Amino acid sequence: MSKETYSFETEVGKLLDIVARSLYSHKEIFLRELISNASDACDRLRYAALTTPDLIEGGGEFKILLEADTEKRILSIADNGIGMNKDDLTETLGTIARSGTQAFVDQLAQDGSDEEKNLAMIGQFGVGFYSAFMVADKVEVLTRKAGDEKAWLWSSDGKGEYTIEESERGERGTTVKVFLREDEKEFIESERVRHIVKAHSDHIGIPIYLAEGDKEEKLNTASALWTRSKSEIKDEQYTEFYHHVSHNFDDPWLTIHNQVEGVLSYTNLLFIPSSRPFDLFNPERKLHVKLYVKRVFITDDSEGIIPGYLRFLRGVVDSEDLSLNISRETFQHDPKITKIRSGLIKRVLGELKKKADKSADEYKTFWENFGAVLKEGLYEDAANRDAILPLCRFHSTRGEGLVSLDEYIAAMKEGQEAIYTISGENLESIRQSPQLEGFKAKGIEVLLLDDSVDDFWVPSVGQYQEKPFKSVTQGGADLANIKDAEGKPKDDKKDQADDADVDALIAALKVALGDKVKDIRSSQRLTESAVCLVADEGDLDIRLEKMLRQHNQLQEGMASKRILEINPAHPTITRMAAFVKENSGAVDGLNEAALLLFDQARLLEGETIDDTAAFARRLSRVIEKGLG
Ligand code: ADP
Ligand code: MG
Repeated sequence: MSKETYSFETEVGKLLDIVARSLYSHKEIFLRELISNASDACDRLRYAALTTPDLIEGGGEFKILLEADTEKRILSIADNGIGMNKDDLTETLGTIARSGTQAFVDQLAQDGSDEEKNLAMIGQFGVGFYSAFMVADKVEVLTRKAGDEKAWLWSSDGKGEYTIEESERGERGTTVKVFLREDEKEFIESERVRHIVKAHSDHIGIPIYLAEGDKEEKLNTASALWTRSKSEIKDEQYTEFYHHVSHNFDDPWLTIHNQVEGVLSYTNLLFIPSSRPFDLFNPERKLHVKLYVKRVFITDDSEGIIPGYLRFLRGVVDSEDLSLNISRETFQHDPKITKIRSGLIKRVLGELKKKADKSADEYKTFWENFGAVLKEGLYEDAANRDAILPLCRFHSTRGEGLVSLDEYIAAMKEGQEAIYTISGENLESIRQSPQLEGFKAKGIEVLLLDDSVDDFWVPSVGQYQEKPFKSVTQGGADLANIKDAEGKPKDDKKDQADDADVDALIAALKVALGDKVKDIRSSQRLTESAVCLVADEGDLDIRLEKMLRQHNQLQEGMASKRILEINPAHPTITRMAAFVKENSGAVDGLNEAALLLFDQARLLEGETIDDTAAFARRLSRVIEKGLG
């Protein structure tokens, strides 16, 4: 068969263009990436051989061999892993198969103009196989898939096209030949290669050899990192391993390494990243913990060992006590897996607790990145709810910082029964809510819930330490019983209209507004605004309803009418009350103003007005003529 020429996907072309011009100062990472691929290829074959042992016939010893051809300036990386057939080649080396690389390219598209930043990002993401073009003017991949007879040679200079032709390879596996550019010849020096492997790939469980003459020198420790004892592992080694398993290139925020012995033995080496991975809020909620059984890689779709709300975890879990025959399809229902899972959850939550207790500042970084995800556990995992609640942090009316529920309860005012909350889309707009006024005036703290997940867990959790959560936009405010900062129940009505006059006004407003509202009442929660809307006790919270509507989740019959609360101390209200009194209840003249008042409350909720033309007309009339 003759040589066939293909074009790279447009995005790969863009990527290669940047990679080739990269001035990134750690170009040596190309070797880490190629070794990492070689090791993955061995892992995948080892797994495939569990069910098809023939695949490793004549060679179950996996190894990676590095060879330098000084004369031709070629560094080659050979493995006896799973290899690739022709389809695999076109699917993987010509497209962007890898999610991390895809994220890199997406970022490029966003700030395509900022060259400096693009180049810096290569280091941050790593671009897998394509990083070879940072140092090479040509790359060849000679590969033969386990079980196949045919071998294939892929070749490219990284400039838009690649070729594939049939070739020969004595055994299964892949050899990547990196034709180094003149100015990158340092990478054929054995001292340099040795050093790079030690620094970046020591944790690889497959032995890596360097061929020198007819001798082969082993460069790495070649025992999987997680099987070594903690005291032997340096921080840098953990970090390198984290880069390898996670495809992230930040530092781990937390490393959790345990060898658990007992009825069920397993090892976990888990990491929490220090920055937010790009796919955190994808609807697939993909997990990124790899499951190994007796050091054989089984799956990286770790559903079953890690719950969705801990999907920020990266790393591996390896158990001696699971069967190697465990299939990817059935392992979720294995009782041993369930046991490991609950052990891991307890461990992770426990470590988070320690970190939160030790350093509020560092914990804040975690919380800002992953708090919204962890809170999903509050309604998905009732069994661990009590461990998750104390880990939660909130913005509140107290100030700019974050508070825990325990801190909130400790600061509750005398007579205060509930943990007050208010939800909304963003902190700035929540802080402006009129419903908060009375609470602020009395110094009662309110938690500001700005994550959409809050609308789910609050109703299902209901309470903390026997204190119910209560939305300030729902139900009555009961502020009268709570003592303010001076310790006295607030009862100063000096600027208010008389109760009787307010009652008369409310009666008049009810006539004017009819079934637009569920009820109208005098408010305890307003001090500055004239009006606000709240939901009735048993109804859907007003902010929750809004969120559901935005996400098209509001079902027929769920929406309910609101209660209009009026502030008896506000000049607008006192003026209207006086008008009703003067006209001894003749309410006709009040109609326009009542409708304006209602629309004002809707606007304050960030809602739209049904009939904007009528609104404009009324406003003009009231300005012109006043009430009446
Ligand atoms: P990633 O390793 O994150 O998937 P890469 O860009 O490093 O991304 O590699 C792309 C793909 O090319 C791999 O997923 C794999 O399918 C294939 N590949 C690369 N190197 C090898 C190899 N040595 N053996 C088998 N497949 C390989
Ligand atoms: Mg890779």
